[in-house]
Amino acid sequence: MMPINVFVSERRAANLLAQIRWRDGVYCPRCRAESAIRYGSYRVFQRYLCKDCGRTFNDKTGTVFEYSTIPLRKWYLAVYTYIRLNTSIRQLDAESPFRTRQSTGASSASCGRWTRLGHN
Ligand SMILES: [Zn+2]
Repeated sequence: MMPINVFVSERRAANLLAQIRWRDGVYCPRCRAESAIRYGSYRVFQRYLCKDCGRTFNDKTGTVFEYSTIPLRKWYLAVYTYIRLNTSIRQLDAESPFRTRQSTGASSASCGRWTRLGHN
């Protein structure tokens, strides 16, 4: 579960993105070189300079968040809410008496029998 503070602090949200993205080390999104050095910052994001191609990039470069004007923390909240909602729906479905045939284990033959019995 995500720590709640990533939903309120953009800096913490940026730190989490950096941790996930660079878990195997920082590399250049253009030339893939691993010779990047810290090079100031871009808003709350760490900026880097690639010593191989001379390009600068930041924690968001090359991710789906790069051109988004929506704060990262709001993305997290949306994704988190979506996952939680999906999980809740699956739980509800599992607990529901109106489950699908597959999950109750009833075969189509027995369903046919029940239908015929209903008509008698
Ligand atoms: Zn590079």
